[in-house]
Amino acid sequence: MLESLQSQPCQPYSRYGEDVALDSACLFCRIILGEIPADIVLRNDNVVAFNDINPQAPTHVLIVPRLHVENAGELAQISPSITADLFSAAAEIAAQRALSGHRAVFNTGADAGQSVFHAHLHLLGGRALAWPPG
Ligand code: 5GP
Ligand code: ZN
Repeated sequence: MLESLQSQPCQPYSRYGEDVALDSACLFCRIILGEIPADIVLRNDNVVAFNDINPQAPTHVLIVPRLHVENAGELAQISPSITADLFSAAAEIAAQRALSGHRAVFNTGADAGQSVFHAHLHLLGGRALAWPPG
């Protein structure tokens, strides 16, 4: 069930400002709604952040908008403000954890490794991070 949710693009997003901003068929929308458990590390009016289930670094947090959009570009078009909120949340979490450095990245499209089609910012830190990424 969850595997199929993760591998399929979500339904077309609802526009920001409408009541139905979340998609009941989307894994991350269901985490936001509390229907699927997650280890929540930060929550505010626009953003929810939780630990990645398959962490790639000691800190690997997913920061997601409380708005169902497929990727970062669509989010930026609909709400530059919420896009900025994701980066603010990343900085807040990095500061709380006193990370000496961190990486914040959006994967967009399957070829870039995107597997959940609800925009999310990966916050990675707590170890040396190679560049260029794989
Ligand atoms: P993407 O590959 O789309 O950039 O990132 C999706 C991330 O979601 C992956 O790093 C994956 O480990 C994580 N993920 C997938 N399913 C779940 C889940 O059910 N719970 C949590 N906390 N993370 C998940
Ligand atoms: Zn969603």
